[in-house]
Amino acid sequence: MSTLKTEEEIEIMAEAGKRLASVLEASAKSVRAGMKTKEIDELSNRLIREAGCEPAFLNYRPHGAKKAYPATACVSVNEVIVHGVPSDYVIKSGDIVKIDLGLKHEGFYVDAAVTVGVGAIDAKKKELIETTKKALELGIEEARPGRTLGDIGFAIEHCVKAKGFSVVDLLTGHGVGRDLHEDPYVYNSGRRGEGEELKEGMVIAIEPMVAAGKGRIKQLDDDSFATADGSASAHFEQTLAITKNGPKVLTRI
Ligand code: MG
Repeated sequence: MSTLKTEEEIEIMAEAGKRLASVLEASAKSVRAGMKTKEIDELSNRLIREAGCEPAFLNYRPHGAKKAYPATACVSVNEVIVHGVPSDYVIKSGDIVKIDLGLKHEGFYVDAAVTVGVGAIDAKKKELIETTKKALELGIEEARPGRTLGDIGFAIEHCVKAKGFSVVDLLTGHGVGRDLHEDPYVYNSGRRGEGEELKEGMVIAIEPMVAAGKGRIKQLDDDSFATADGSASAHFEQTLAITKNGPKVLTRI
């Protein structure tokens, strides 16, 4: 069951989202060839704390996970889709880097992600990034009272498939609020009119994760997820509230 948020709660989450957006923007702008992925993590940790908030992912243990997450940011490069653990990996020109960040502010969580192309990226990676970004916007457009989770998933998958790319298997968006991951699962595929009906007061994170190749995924030693065929992947995410006037994006940069 999805928890509905009051207008006051959504106001708190909007403030949280504003702070997260500025941290994510600064972290994304810092990305350049020659830096280590752990430097992005250090910067985002410092900026979240300077904003008076707590990192949401640090020490977070998802249901069923073997160990708690050891960092502030998830930094996933090229074929790694999500949950990449920041490390000594040195970013190079041509890489695509996904930064996923969450924070807690006055008891509420918000969650957002972007994909950044570094230096000269090839045309396919560029199209993959643009398509994933567009799929997110089309999904957000569906987030209105009376529509369904299936409408969101359909809009995302339709956009992705039209370019010959694939929504990755198993990984989904989610409700967000007093917990980082709440009901419902927000699938990146679906059928129009199917699934849970969207209601005013729902707050969800929509996050298309898209592979240039096939959608099959594998889990790596650091618990991150990568495409099984080694193809590049992209990821964008926004936290938004469903209001009577339509979607209100809380984490817009
Ligand atoms: Mg998320």
